[in-house]
Amino acid sequence: MPEVKVKLTAKPKMKMFFMETVMKKKITETALLAALALPVFSTASLKNIASDTITPKVPAPVQITSHHTLLQVTTPLKNLAWVDGGVSDGGGGTTNPHPADPYFISRVANEEAAPAILAWLNAQEDNFSRHSQAEKKTKAIRKLFDPAIDFRAIVRNTPVELRMGAPCQNVDGQDRDGSIYGSRPGAICISPFSIGPKVSEFNMAAETIALIVHELSHLVGADEAEAQEIQKDVLLSLSHVDFLSFKVDISLIAHGNGEISDSVFKHQMLKGKGARMKSYEVRNWSDALVRLRDAISLKYFLNLNYLTAHQNNLLTAKVITLGAIEDYLCSTDPNEDHVVSRYCAEKLEKGFQSDQSLSVRAYLKRLDDIDFDEKEFDDVVIRRPQSGADLDAGLNYVYETLIEIWDTFKDLDTVKLKTYN
Ligand SMILES: [Zn+2]
Repeated sequence: MPEVKVKLTAKPKMKMFFMETVMKKKITETALLAALALPVFSTASLKNIASDTITPKVPAPVQITSHHTLLQVTTPLKNLAWVDGGVSDGGGGTTNPHPADPYFISRVANEEAAPAILAWLNAQEDNFSRHSQAEKKTKAIRKLFDPAIDFRAIVRNTPVELRMGAPCQNVDGQDRDGSIYGSRPGAICISPFSIGPKVSEFNMAAETIALIVHELSHLVGADEAEAQEIQKDVLLSLSHVDFLSFKVDISLIAHGNGEISDSVFKHQMLKGKGARMKSYEVRNWSDALVRLRDAISLKYFLNLNYLTAHQNNLLTAKVITLGAIEDYLCSTDPNEDHVVSRYCAEKLEKGFQSDQSLSVRAYLKRLDDIDFDEKEFDDVVIRRPQSGADLDAGLNYVYETLIEIWDTFKDLDTVKLKTYN
């Protein structure tokens, strides 16, 4: 077997094995926290919180009297303690040496919150989907992924009042860091004034975003305990995120810097060339897509994901589609080394057998004996290339996915919460 072909399949496979061994297993919170060397929270702390009376309604506002407050986290994440609303220092009476400027907290709400929440939802939805039905019922986060609601739309469309000179109030008029009662109809309230003294400049972004998700979760029926569990999840996920590089990564790709624009450029060069293409031209493009996918999915994949799980899977499926195109070109190229072209032809035979088209999942099973226990790639069809027109159609199919992903980055680069002062 020529070395060049081994390399060709090795990249996607390595990634898949990585995905299979790491991501495809059910990731329990305990395992995850252990892996990240974080403390595991006991449910005992939750029981110390006064329960609130609520009437969850979807999507009508909930009646709630609750203790909406920041989770006090010291750096680095050691003594996480739940505090009642209004406590300013985690209950210990200590002075916060690095209080955050409320202006910077409002900037987090304005700039970082929306892309971070959306990327957090992508990653959590993927993790959540790996739980059994019984496990799902025990997770507060299920409220955000109820098929009957569109939580992403709620993140995008809910007005967020940023109270810069006063605390928010709960339904009883008590001061809180956050509340589902803003001054405008349907708005939630977040108080940078109230949050500032309780957080540090180091944890303010994660704390602020986690509190925003807490309040938004109430709008889709989360009760107080569930909202706090979700808030804790967000806080744990975001505590390790470098928001500056997160935003810069999005911005670079959105503005056409890197693999996406490189791939689009390569598509323009190959467009309409059909059977006159060379297999290495397709390979260059395919390699760029693999680099793009790895850059996108590996950096923050457990906590934040730029793309939805489905978009990530589509990208992998398209890399595999390009592989079939490349094999066809190599198997039909009269100038190709005979041993190499025979290898390419055999690979096509092995993958397609007598089928003209099949699901990417079935194709992978035949080709590499990789079987996913999940349904991903079931809905992506791969067609056997047989002509120049087939190749152009296949390339265009890849290109469309790329443009969709690019649009996602452009959206993440510009999306903001609907804040007002
Ligand atoms: Zn609450």
